[in-house]
Amino acid sequence: MRRVDPVAFRQAASRFVTGVAVLTALDRRGEVCGMTANSFVSISLAPPTVLVSVKPGRMHEAIAATGRYGVSVLPEGGKELSRHFAGRPAADALPACETVQGLPRLSGCIAFFACELIRTVDVSDHTLFIAEVSNCDYCDNLPLVFFSSRYHLGPGMPVDH
Ligand SMILES: Cc1cc2nc3c(=O)[nH]c(=O)nc-3n(C[C@H](O)[C@H](O)[C@H](O)COP(=O)(O)OP(=O)(O)OC[C@H]3O[C@@H](n4cnc5c(N)ncnc54)[C@H](O)[C@@H]3O)c2cc1C
Repeated sequence: MRRVDPVAFRQAASRFVTGVAVLTALDRRGEVCGMTANSFVSISLAPPTVLVSVKPGRMHEAIAATGRYGVSVLPEGGKELSRHFAGRPAADALPACETVQGLPRLSGCIAFFACELIRTVDVSDHTLFIAEVSNCDYCDNLPLVFFSSRYHLGPGMPVDH
């Protein structure tokens, strides 16, 4: 099979609009870790099942070790949080969070999912962590949007139902 040009692939993939989430987990020592991710996908309703695609690193190790992760969906004002958990720390302290079913939930998120790992699939340089959702909550505030490798404020008016 002919391989696509990696730059063209990255740019084409960036045209698929996503929200931005912060994955959270406790590592082996019980310390909180967080990681920005836009690979979150809802894949089944019955039972409620999701996946995230994670490259090797601290979050990868924590999820593999504990079999659990949280997904906090960022509000439209969440750009600095996204940067913080993508390796550009804004402050030394952990941003405000509460605990839901033993998992950190970022304060001010517009949706939260507590996830119990059911399957792990290694694909190329990432791992798909497939999980059942054991708890979730949401509110109607607008999301942070990621498109063309840049942050955007929440969606405009709907064009259809
Ligand atoms: C919009 C966007 C989407 C992304 N989507 C994905 C994706 O789907 N999959 C993927 O693999 N990568 C994704 N990334 C890249 C990923 O966020 C970074 O590579 C990240 O740094 C990897 O985190 P880590 O757990 O490996 O390690 P680290 O680099 O150790 O953790 C990330 C950062 O989180 C902060 N942090 C972690 N724990 C704490 C704590 N307890 N207290 C305070 N701060 C803490 C630190 O500042 C650290 O720099 C995305 C990046 C962006 C910007």
